[in-house]
Amino acid sequence: MKQSEKLIAGNWKMNGLGADLEGVVQDLKRELQAEPASCRVAICPPATLLSRLADAVSGQAVEVGGQDCRAETHGAFTGGVSAAMLKDAGATLVIVGHSERRQEFGETDRLVSAKAEAAVQAGLAPIVCVGETLEQRQAGRAVEVVRGQVMNSLPLAVAGRDFAVAYEPVWAIGTGLTPTLEQIEEVHRAVRAAMLERLGLASAAAPILYGGSVKPDNARDILAVPEVGGALVGGASLKASDFLGIIRAV
Ligand code: PEP
Repeated sequence: MKQSEKLIAGNWKMNGLGADLEGVVQDLKRELQAEPASCRVAICPPATLLSRLADAVSGQAVEVGGQDCRAETHGAFTGGVSAAMLKDAGATLVIVGHSERRQEFGETDRLVSAKAEAAVQAGLAPIVCVGETLEQRQAGRAVEVVRGQVMNSLPLAVAGRDFAVAYEPVWAIGTGLTPTLEQIEEVHRAVRAAMLERLGLASAAAPILYGGSVKPDNARDILAVPEVGGALVGGASLKASDFLGIIRAV
């Protein structure tokens, strides 16, 4: 990823059936054909829709991503999906370490790092998520917590490769709340410093996405903050007009 190229990635989470996909993709394709995006655009649908989405956007400037992968390449992991399987289904990216997985499934930095490494080895660009809880922010620990997550969730294998970090304050996800622009800048600068410390200049080009209640009406301001290299978008990526509003804010 060139640092100048912002990335807007939609995370559909556990939402969407085939019929929903057709509606969103048709609108998105029509609009992006009329006026191409000035950034990299990706949608991370549920695994069941990956290959259908990949077919639907084939030849378009819309990438497809997974929402998670196993750290292992194959084996007796019922329900698991490997990074190579995502790639085989048409993905070029994968989200790892989303706070919903860290919280619901107890995923640790160590596991997230192993998943990111598996993604790189399979030829996928990992989007490695970090972010503090409300309790941690209120205790004045946001920067310290996020810095620790970056240092421990980024494997050395991502150095010089296509990858991104997504700063997603847990309390801002799906709540309509967002940090101030100053708070976003403070954490993004700390993330960049930690990336440079961990990986050296080989990480300088990787974008740092902001995620947490990004909407068309706040996207322009957030995307203009120094060190914000794009957005990871949950709820607003389910509706083509909202997602486009964010893409057009780049
Ligand atoms: C997310 O789940 O990654 C996210 C940022 O969600 P939302 O945009 O709905 O807050």
